[in-house]
Amino acid sequence: MTNSEITTQKEDRLAQMLAKLKGRDFRLTPQRLAILTILASSEDHPTVDGVYKEVRSKFPTTSIATVYKTIALLKELNEVLELGFPDGSNRYDGNRPYPHPHAICIKCKKILDPEIASVDQLSEEMVQKTGYVLSFHRLDFFGLCPDCQKKG
Ligand code: ZN
Ligand code: MN
Repeated sequence: MTNSEITTQKEDRLAQMLAKLKGRDFRLTPQRLAILTILASSEDHPTVDGVYKEVRSKFPTTSIATVYKTIALLKELNEVLELGFPDGSNRYDGNRPYPHPHAICIKCKKILDPEIASVDQLSEEMVQKTGYVLSFHRLDFFGLCPDCQKKG
């Protein structure tokens, strides 16, 4: 993708979120718009705290409850993907709110979204072998990212 295509895609994500929120009891304050914008455009899978810190840099009066509530509503509308972890450090992907594989660094906690061609095939095989009707999947790969490998 070119940079302009990526910019368009991020604007589309924000537009999609706003469209879904229309008709919901959701007053679009500047703070909430900032939260949506951060989630729609960030590729680093922020935590609630990360979103909170970023929005506070622009709107210092924002409460963490507003961040929690906005994310909960987006989750309900399937407009953000929640990656839950046993230690409670949940991460959020508003850029790609549908199931996709993640590469997770166990040291620095960086999470990447590579395009993996064989995911559809994997789902197909899962259906064939189990007879399940699949609703979603979760596919996490854990290891050390290139930066952490260099640090040893
Ligand atoms: Zn790392
Ligand atoms: Mn992702």
